[in-house]
Amino acid sequence: MTPTPNPHVAALAPYALADLSAPPGKRQVSLAQNESALAPSPAAIEAARAALAGVRLYPDPDWRDLRAAIAGVHGVDAGGILCGSGSMELILALALAYLGPGRRALTTAHGYLFFRAAARLAGAEIDLAPETELTVDVEALLAAVRTETRIVFVANPGNPTGTRIGRAELLRLRDGLPGNVLLVIDEAYGEFADAPGESMFDLAGQGGTVLLRTFSKVYGLAGMRVGWGLFPPEIAGQLRKVLNPNNISAAAQAAAAAAMRDQPYMARTRAETAARRDRFAARMRALGLAAPESRTNFVLLRFPSAEAARDADAVLRAEGVLMRATGGYGLDDCLRATVGSERDMRLAGDILADWIEGRTPA
Ligand SMILES: *Cc1c(COP(=O)(O)O)cnc(C)c1O
Repeated sequence: MTPTPNPHVAALAPYALADLSAPPGKRQVSLAQNESALAPSPAAIEAARAALAGVRLYPDPDWRDLRAAIAGVHGVDAGGILCGSGSMELILALALAYLGPGRRALTTAHGYLFFRAAARLAGAEIDLAPETELTVDVEALLAAVRTETRIVFVANPGNPTGTRIGRAELLRLRDGLPGNVLLVIDEAYGEFADAPGESMFDLAGQGGTVLLRTFSKVYGLAGMRVGWGLFPPEIAGQLRKVLNPNNISAAAQAAAAAAMRDQPYMARTRAETAARRDRFAARMRALGLAAPESRTNFVLLRFPSAEAARDADAVLRAEGVLMRATGGYGLDDCLRATVGSERDMRLAGDILADWIEGRTPA
């Protein structure tokens, strides 16, 4: 007799992280995980270092200083904020609290894969609504809602598409959903897309909507594992029961709070990242590749065929440049390129330019 897992766990494939193997002797250039190209604010590192003096004690289970920092910057009620060990923890907690056998989640065709993993971990099924031109299609989502649907997950901007829908579209989605369906708007790249009058934080005040953000992207703290969200009180109460009560280390809480308070630094990272992204995307389009307009720190490159995308990936990989293959997202003709250093973007661009010129008969 051997121990047997729950059937729904046994049926799961391992979560597919990026393949980060570079050939021996090549400098590894990871453009595969949407980490920030730039270091976090020096204030964040300093705060983490200072917090180490107190690690004999458990961290603050209420994340008080971190929540105060977030509330101050975003003008939201600190009482509605919950923090997670990355926003992935919050996504999983939402799935565990609101999904289960007999219930269904819904997301979009090219939506973030962890939504699917979380739903299945909770023992639920997941439905996929088509997108239109690599962009969330609200009508298609509403048409795909079933009586068993309990959560709709939308990443906005999307990963791996990088595209974004506006506030009016999201309001139309919320208005069209039944009241018993929780709408989770994952704004992991929200800082890159924040526009005046477009904030969605007010929706959490209406009861059935959750907004998620993270310190892993523009704040450059992916290794610290801190995410946060704005939750209606009833949902926050349920989630608290699911979350690990000591989920974020003291050093990570301190780093995130300091990073949040250093908004000028965040704004510089955002601007520099966007400039590199737009230069790289323009170069790729000039080479004849399609790339939807990105509102994030990555660019989705669309090749003429799945075979071409595979070839390009192999050519890049042979030089140590690792992009993310997106076949798991239903986009086997694409590669997702995270914005890295200027040098790395030039290298990636040069490799693809040589490859395309070599393939194209003169
Ligand atoms: C990167 C990412 C996250 C976040 O991750 P954490 O590091 O767990 O905060 C969440 N959602 C999307 C869509 C992402 O791309």
